[in-house]
Amino acid sequence: MHSFAPDTVELDRRSFVDGNFLENKGAPIEVHRPSDGKIAAVFHEADEGVVDHAVTAAKEALKRSGWATAAPRQRAAVMRRWAALVEKHSLAMAQLESVCSSRPIAETLERDVPVAIELLRFYGECADKTSGEVFETPRDVWSLTLHEPYGVVAAISPWNVPLLLATAKFAPALAAGNAVVLKPSELTPFSALRMAALAVEAGLPHGLFNVLVGTGQHTGSALVRHPGVSYVTFTGSTRTGAAVMTDAAHHGMKPVSLELGGKSPQLVFADAPDLGRVAEMVASSITRNSGQICFCGSRLVVQRDVAQNLLERIVDRVKTARPGPTWSEATTLPPLISMPQAERAQRIVDQARAAGGELVCGGQRFMDGKAVFFEPTVITNVQPGSEVLRDEVFGPVLTVQTFDNYEEGLALAAHPLYGLSAGIHTSDIDKALAAAQSVEAGVVWVNAYGRSDDIVSPFGGFKQSGFGKDFGVAAFEKYRRARNVWIRLGQPRAAAEAAHAEIAK
Ligand code: NAD
Repeated sequence: MHSFAPDTVELDRRSFVDGNFLENKGAPIEVHRPSDGKIAAVFHEADEGVVDHAVTAAKEALKRSGWATAAPRQRAAVMRRWAALVEKHSLAMAQLESVCSSRPIAETLERDVPVAIELLRFYGECADKTSGEVFETPRDVWSLTLHEPYGVVAAISPWNVPLLLATAKFAPALAAGNAVVLKPSELTPFSALRMAALAVEAGLPHGLFNVLVGTGQHTGSALVRHPGVSYVTFTGSTRTGAAVMTDAAHHGMKPVSLELGGKSPQLVFADAPDLGRVAEMVASSITRNSGQICFCGSRLVVQRDVAQNLLERIVDRVKTARPGPTWSEATTLPPLISMPQAERAQRIVDQARAAGGELVCGGQRFMDGKAVFFEPTVITNVQPGSEVLRDEVFGPVLTVQTFDNYEEGLALAAHPLYGLSAGIHTSDIDKALAAAQSVEAGVVWVNAYGRSDDIVSPFGGFKQSGFGKDFGVAAFEKYRRARNVWIRLGQPRAAAEAAHAEIAK
């Protein structure tokens, strides 16, 4: 019922700056639809002049509008109206999100758009429900922290879940009183552009939310380096995160928060409460978005006694994934974002096989017209240290390793570089809690796997998976800096000094 014809979706090809769409003059970029390989749009990228225009507009909007200084409840009201408008346009927004990405329409409609709407509401409500502190001091002194916005926040987001991950940045940053210049992925900028237009319609003052289309190398880097930017929030690969952090360090020592890659384990003990459910979670974790998810549970670490049983169930389930275009409601295995991405996944799987890895299922990319897919792949007997165990494949590829005891399981679950998320499956509460505290991951799911639609819980990794949280109140607070104000009172001072002298004796 919600399948749609992709050519009917109108795409904007310009940046959105200071409340208006703006033609860019930089290099042309072709945006291909992953589901049929067609060129959906050609846009010119925002060059340094447009980046400067956007940051300057953001700074001036902060001065002009009183966004940071007026009653926070006014920000909440704008965010609520914005949410209502997005809700009104949910179907159009879901199509816009699906058409050039790897996100199937069923998921954008049921999940990505509703969660984006909730993010606007949730962070709008944070605007007047968080506060500073008053510290314990002598009676004649008040020591306070005032929490205040940074100013202009540069937000950079990836292509894999474009709307939701971008909203998880600009909604809290704006609600916290900042202005935002967002650079979404050049592959998927369309839903963010529509969000910016709806924000203005909802009453967000011009210039507070700007969206720049362009590549990371040019537009993204120029944005991070711009002297008017006070904070950088990034989601993407670990390699790009390092470049962003370096640019931020060398151009104003700006604070950064980084949501980066992962290689997450699913640690399954023999006493897992329900192997059927575990199989379902493991299978959907690798097939959802065809494995193009940062927290994809791509390493199955399973206790030997139940390994064969679980594996059979997982294979049965992954085989039910239905490849198809993102605009078909039936699709549960969407295309990979690009041919180079598919070639990389193929190379990693081929190398694992050449080194002795055994395929239980899948192993091949395949084409449907110009769309490239990857078969859900389960591979055992992988060599320790091999690329398939070490690096994100960003395809539906699951490795399987077995263990005999708790310590061995935890050792296999550990990753030398990443620490984004982990799943632990056991019916023994002591074991679950011990493992949840030991495994090095910023997010641990017990007898569950994957982010729910819940916004309350913070999400973010350890080690090379980054630092700083998206989601939760933590994400609102990270867009505010703390100023300590120490106030010495005049009147009671003499009395207080006399009392202090008494204590000092
Ligand atoms: P990417 O690192 O290639 O690009 C991310 C964004 O950074 C894009 O907008 C890109 O244009 C921009 N960029 C690239 N080079 C830049 C530079 N030098 N300066 C500034 N910006 C630059 O990542 P991707 O391929 O778009 O996304 C996939 C990656 O994102 C995976 O590694 C995935 O694990 C990660 N990711 C992490 C999370 C998380 O919450 N931890 C969520 C989603 C995706």
